[in-house]
Amino acid sequence: MPIHNTSEEEIEVERQRTSPDTITDYVIEGRRIVDIQKLFKEIQNLSRHPPFNCTIADMNILTENRKGLKSSILLKCKMCNLEKYLNLFTQDESETSMDINAAAALATISTGIGFTAAEEFMAILDVPFMSPNTYQQHHEFVGEKIRETAWKAMEEAAQEESLLAKELGEVDQYNRPCITVVADGAWSKRSYNVNYDAASGVACIIGQRTGKLLFLGIRNKYCSFCAYASAKNMEVIPDHTCYKNWSNTSTSMESDIIVEGFRKSIDMYNIIYKRLVGDGDSSVYKKLIEARPYGSLHVEKIECRNHLLRNFCSKLREISSKFIHH
Ligand SMILES: [Zn+2]
Ligand SMILES: [Zn+2]
Repeated sequence: MPIHNTSEEEIEVERQRTSPDTITDYVIEGRRIVDIQKLFKEIQNLSRHPPFNCTIADMNILTENRKGLKSSILLKCKMCNLEKYLNLFTQDESETSMDINAAAALATISTGIGFTAAEEFMAILDVPFMSPNTYQQHHEFVGEKIRETAWKAMEEAAQEESLLAKELGEVDQYNRPCITVVADGAWSKRSYNVNYDAASGVACIIGQRTGKLLFLGIRNKYCSFCAYASAKNMEVIPDHTCYKNWSNTSTSMESDIIVEGFRKSIDMYNIIYKRLVGDGDSSVYKKLIEARPYGSLHVEKIECRNHLLRNFCSKLREISSKFIHH
């Protein structure tokens, strides 16, 4: 089974041009993903071309131009020397059709696999994948889109909570809404050979009235790109958005995120998280009291172990397991 050395193939536009008299078929190996409708149209467009009315059967493959999973094939007519690209994807990506490389990055995020697993998967399918660098670029692009959407949803939820609290007159002396929030965290089960210590943790703050997300934080001790670089014994780790943002203990990840959420609530939404519904983990509340996010204003704790909260927890774990393994 061929294992593609994608990083070298990325440099590509490996033009195997020979002199026009000695055109030989360039051999494309393996399989490709194509936009089937686009491919069909392209073949139709090339089926007959002027001035000699030659057909696609008169054309040879000159080279392949490939960037990750996106590929186009340069054809040359042996009758009239016409050179034309056979595009396997539409060039202008509309809202509805996502770039295949971005789609692949999104697929890794939503299935909870990383670059290495995706590369392996595609190698077995015999489809050349993308280099870690290209993957990283697309992963960042998709991640940014997800974050934008999440921020927007959180802002809307905060507005909703804010209105409801104001309607009930639950405000402080500066007319800032004082709301009740639920907070919880989770850790990744995957250990990356560090069995005693979770590599990633996620925690969130949810408005109790709306049940909607107001704050989400992630702490990572692990960055797949850094790990890849060290596994490959790279002397210099290439520039990348590093996901490693935590070097403290895994158990302190949750309280750190929740304290951050409380500290930012006024700046973000002009809301005070007045009451915290906790799941019995007193360390988070303890940290919160120490942090004094609202100065002299005391954050109250409401103990709650009902099924509603457990639902939140299991949902959160579901989300986190998808989000944090990258
Ligand atoms: Zn021709
Ligand atoms: Zn890194």
